[in-house]
Amino acid sequence: MSDTSGTRPDDAHRERTDQLTFQNPVDRYPVVEPPEQDQPEPGLDAELEPKTDRGEFSYRGTGRLEGRKALITGADSGIGAAVAIAFAKEGADVALNYLPDEEPDAQAVKGIIERAGRRAVLLPGDLTDKDFCSSLVEQAVEGLGGLDVLVNNAGKQIAVESLEELSDEQLTDTFTVNIIAMFRITKAALKHLPAGSSIINTTSIQAYEPSPHLLDYASTKAAINNFTKGLGQQLAPRGIRVNAVAPGPFWTPLQVSDGQPKEALPEFGTSTPLGRAGQPTELAPAYVFLASPESSYVIGETLNVNGGSPSP
Ligand code: NAD
Ligand code: MG
Repeated sequence: MSDTSGTRPDDAHRERTDQLTFQNPVDRYPVVEPPEQDQPEPGLDAELEPKTDRGEFSYRGTGRLEGRKALITGADSGIGAAVAIAFAKEGADVALNYLPDEEPDAQAVKGIIERAGRRAVLLPGDLTDKDFCSSLVEQAVEGLGGLDVLVNNAGKQIAVESLEELSDEQLTDTFTVNIIAMFRITKAALKHLPAGSSIINTTSIQAYEPSPHLLDYASTKAAINNFTKGLGQQLAPRGIRVNAVAPGPFWTPLQVSDGQPKEALPEFGTSTPLGRAGQPTELAPAYVFLASPESSYVIGETLNVNGGSPSP
């Protein structure tokens, strides 16, 4: 069944306690036990089973991003949607980029943002298109009346057994979406970002612990960490902070649209010290912290949110 803008996509998590309530992280969420499923890329939250928690009911805002203007790529679903929802609950207006096929998910997130009393600007388009990367930034600036947070979160992840089977098309697309578009969007955004702005890039634990079936994807994530640390130094004197968030295993549509080998899905996330996969809203506080002025002395950092797996 598809969700539409009229339904409440996070209903399955309506009764959850919020992120500021004292609780045991081991059982804040159950182990994800996904039924067999497969979605064509890019995949929809509306079709994902079980449903994820993006924080519609479980994220409590405390005014940390009052009046801010954020552009988030890949904001229709999964981690990007959870970040968009949390930003809105913290007082920000949000421009959301996603692929045109993801319109139902984007509409659902727009509904949540508007119910939180904030503005959602929908900007569908493909990040493999060079010209779209710069026009996306211009449209966001126009729609929001400025820009002071950029979250580069869109990502392509397709599992392939062997290097011989990795097509040149996939290789090029993965690098274009994950890292080249990040360069292009960030470059286009710079002339709009005032001192105090924050750029946050989504990397991955794959940057340091590459899975053998994710060679192209994992390489882009290592590049994102490096880009973040270099650009962080370049922009610090201008008062623009650049940081990254490195998720471990999070239950999102990426995983069921060939992001993982099918046989790996039932075990997804259970090998972390916490023993379960994360829910997208559990990542949102890391992005809120890095976007907010409270992290004024944090630059070039990769914040690992991965259920306890050791990371550099
Ligand atoms: P997701 O499928 O919900 O989000 C990925 C989004 O990327 C899609 O919604 C889509 O809008 C966008 N995207 C892909 N190709 C695009 C293109 N050509 N043009 C425009 N947008 C495009 O999955 P997610 O897990 O929330 O992924 C978000 C980010 O988190 C990605 O960068 C991913 O690499 C990263 N990440 C995820 C996990 C995890 O376990 N889910 C772990 C580490 C890192
Ligand atoms: Mg999506």
